Amino acid sequence: MKLLLALLLFSLSFASEYPKHVKETLKKIKDNVYGVFGVYEQVSYENRGFISNAYFVVTEEAVVVIDALTTYKLGKELVETIRSVTDKPIKFAVITHYHTDHFYGVGALKEAGATIIAHEWAFDYVSQPSSWNFYEARKKILKEHMEGTEMVEPDITITQGLDIHSGRKKFVVRHYCKAHTPGDVVIWMPEDKVLFSGDIVFDGRLPFLGSGNSKTWLVCLKKILELDPDVLLPGHGKPMLTKERIRDRVNWTYKYISDLRNTIRKMIEEGRDIDYVREHINEALLEIDPSYAQVPVFFDVNPVNAYYVYFEVENELLEEGE
Ligand SMILES: [Zn+2]
Repeated sequence: MKLLLALLLFSLSFASEYPKHVKETLKKIKDNVYGVFGVYEQVSYENRGFISNAYFVVTEEAVVVIDALTTYKLGKELVETIRSVTDKPIKFAVITHYHTDHFYGVGALKEAGATIIAHEWAFDYVSQPSSWNFYEARKKILKEHMEGTEMVEPDITITQGLDIHSGRKKFVVRHYCKAHTPGDVVIWMPEDKVLFSGDIVFDGRLPFLGSGNSKTWLVCLKKILELDPDVLLPGHGKPMLTKERIRDRVNWTYKYISDLRNTIRKMIEEGRDIDYVREHINEALLEIDPSYAQVPVFFDVNPVNAYYVYFEVENELLEEGE
């Protein structure tokens, strides 16, 4: 009974623990590198959409921001958080990918003086009707928390990359491949060996494979291992602060995507259709590695991933046959 009560109190206090201001989550990661950390959840009215991370680096002359959070209001709070650390000008904001939880706050950063940098796919995203449907859906969930939020296009777009120099710091902004989206960008600080990885690597969550490319995602993961970062700062969840942790998580992501792709390839070669694959993909992967059962949302998200990867692999097989 005591334990039950303790658990109940714990869950109650946990539920009311949503940060009221982004600043409450501010962490100094290393010299001049800071992060704010959203909860590891879906967007809800209660969490105000604060489900993703954003980062900023203070150089001798300016502030460089990575990602803009999920709403204009959260973007404003991010600016206020930066202002609590430094009054240097906010010069650049690099957006790792144009998904709602990473770029809806861009308007606030632009108002604060930042030049917005993203992959040119951002323009495709903003012009698609489905993105506007998503925008309306977000408004329904977030209500007044969405006030002021607009889909703001970037000022500078990249296809492969550009280097930003600010003070004595160098930021290598690169699009290595399509992974989580067609326009993923990572930001690499070569002297500090810090990598901002967007949604390409997660700690303890299944990646969503429905809007990028699973085959080239693997190329991106190899590239991250080659860079060999000391610190990896993801778009969601906890920062990865040791080489061992980073290698472990990158290799795990690689293994999951490979297991899924190989299994689906075999099923297609055996003449199985999409319905069969969706129905049997969980048990097939658990046969390869039973520990997948412990991964949050595996049972729900894995069949959705299988749906997208089925068509990708089917296309690849057609191309190979040509
Ligand atoms: Zn995200």
